Order: sequence, then C-alpha cells, then structure tokens
Amino acid sequence: MKNLQELTRPNIWALEPYSSARDEYSGKEAHVFLDANENPYNGPYNRYPDPLQRELKAQIGRVKGVPAQCIFLGNGSDEAIDLVYRSFTRPGIDNVVAIEPTYGMYKVCADINDVEYRKVLLDENFQMNADEVLAACDENTKAIWICTPNNPTGNDICREQIEKVLVEFGGLVVIDEAYSDFSPSPSFRHELEKYPNMIVLNTMSKAWASAGLRLGMAFAHPDIIAIFNKVKYPYNINMLTQQKAKEIVSDFFQVDEWVKILLHERAKMIEAMKVLPICEKVYPTSANFFLAKMPNATAIYNYLVDLGIIVRNRSKIALCGDCLRITIGSKSENEELLKALRNIEQ
Ligand SMILES: *Cc1c(COP(=O)(O)O)cnc(C)c1O
Repeated sequence: MKNLQELTRPNIWALEPYSSARDEYSGKEAHVFLDANENPYNGPYNRYPDPLQRELKAQIGRVKGVPAQCIFLGNGSDEAIDLVYRSFTRPGIDNVVAIEPTYGMYKVCADINDVEYRKVLLDENFQMNADEVLAACDENTKAIWICTPNNPTGNDICREQIEKVLVEFGGLVVIDEAYSDFSPSPSFRHELEKYPNMIVLNTMSKAWASAGLRLGMAFAHPDIIAIFNKVKYPYNINMLTQQKAKEIVSDFFQVDEWVKILLHERAKMIEAMKVLPICEKVYPTSANFFLAKMPNATAIYNYLVDLGIIVRNRSKIALCGDCLRITIGSKSENEELLKALRNIEQ
C-alpha cells in the first residue's frame, strides 16, 4: 500500500479541522455549559450532539465486532462515499475504478467531485475479474469500488478476486457491504488488520430497517477514520438519529429475526417467479432483492405502476437488459406483486 499521505489530497492532509465547543470540552462532570452559545431552554434539543458519536460507536462496535476507533458514522453511507472523494481524490487529476453495473452513487459523487470514473464490466455471471480491475488502474487511481453483494445484480462478488485486488492495489479499496447481513459470506470488516487500505461500508438502511434515520458506517484503519473525522461536518449525526440508533442497535435480536423472515420470503418469491411464464430468469441473489429478466420489462414495470406496485426498472443498465429489480417486502406485499404478475396475459 502507498502511504496514506501519498493517497490523501494535499490540502486535506494539511487541514486544520474546525474545533467545536464539544471537541474542546467533552467531559461529563461539568453542569454549567456556557461554551457553545446554546439556548438554555427547550432541552434536550438545545444541546449540540456528540460530534464523534462515542456512545453509539461503542454499541455498534460491540455488535459488529469492530473497535470504536475503526468506525466512522455518516449521514447515510452516502456521506462516507462522498468523503472518499473529498478526502483522497484531486479533482481533475485523480481517478477511481469501479465494477459495472453497480450502485449509482459512486459515479454521481465522482462527477460532483470532478473525478474520472472508470468502469470495468462484470462477466455474464456478474463476477469481477481482478486482473481487469487492476489493469484499469494507473498511478492516479486512488480508490477501487467493490459492492458485495452487488446492487443491482444481487450476487456476492467472488472473495478470492476481491482479496487479489486488496493485496495487489496500492490505493484504497472500498467494499460496500450494504447487503452483507443477507449473505452467507463473512464480512470483510473482520479483516481490517490484514488490509490497512480497505474501507468497508455498512448501513442501517437495509437489514436494520432504518433508512429514514440516515445512518451509514465505514470501518477502516484508525488513520483513515481520522481523515474522515477531520473532513466531515462537525455535527454530522443529529441527536435524534443518535438516540434512535442506540435503541435499535441494542435490540439486535430483532434484526436477526427480520433477516430470517426476509430470507424465507426471498426463497418463496424466487420459487414463485421461476414458474411464471413471463419470467425468463431469476438471477442468484445474496441480498434482500433479486433481479428478474422478463421480456418487455418496461411494459411490465408500467403495468405494475398502474396497479400502485413499484419495482425498479433496470432495463437500461449494462448487462441488465429487460431486468426488473424486486425488493423483498412483507408477505402481503410480495403476494400482491405475484398476483399481479400472474394476471398478465401471455
Ligand atoms: C442502499 C445502499 C446503500 C445505503 O445507502 P444509505 O445512504 O446508507 O442509505 C449503500 N450502498 C449500496 C450499494 C446500497 O444499495
């Protein structure tokens, strides 16, 4: 791995971050707080939240098996994705490499930051070839994006290929595990010590059923976390999100239960889809959604919209021609979708 200074934008490496009142004093013993120009009324919302979310990180660290100093929390994973660009890539100079098709935010954030985004097409089984990914890199490639299980394809990316990229690439490798709770593959977050150039993303939006809270996580070497902390807005996670997330994380048995139910529903849905005459193929999935190939996907999409049932039309995405991406919902939602699909005349 290149050293972190070489990988970091020079202005960010040199950055003297904003020091908030709560950074300068964060002890518990004081009882008169006249340091932050807060209003004494309307408690508890009058107080600024913990800028480093210490209690929440300690809790998440226990559940995820990651030391708190290796955790960054963001306003959704989207904040962590954007911070990779703002911290490490020089606009107009550096580039990143990503598998294709994949999650759209990596490219949007590259475009916003004026960073070249290089796509490496997956094969016909939606698998990544590490050699092709490495061949797309040059001396200005700062990061490689790998989403596993991948969105929108749903499959796990082969572990050996990911490991090859981690070992052979000198820059940062971001592994987005937004859907890993639904996958039998072990998470890469347990291998942080082995791969100092790895950033593993996770989110409360999927298995944790809390997309509305906006809480994303990045797990990485403490030196990378320190750079994110320097660049982020001082109070990026608001008090309500921190409070509610602590409640939800403390009830992690509930999450296991949700995942179990969704995996059961997923198996049932896939079996039912496979016998539908209009469904040509259901692709293997390790996520809470699956990709289904149906001739005239756009017509079926529109038919479903008319019935008030919304799926994701991925027909225009590379390798996903005539594919709909279908999220596993509640039992009744899934049944309603199946009923609508069964009613389509051949
Ligand atoms: C849904 C999803 C996320 C979650 O993003 P949040 O901003 O945390 O809601 C991240 N990555 C991928 C690939 C996703 O599909």
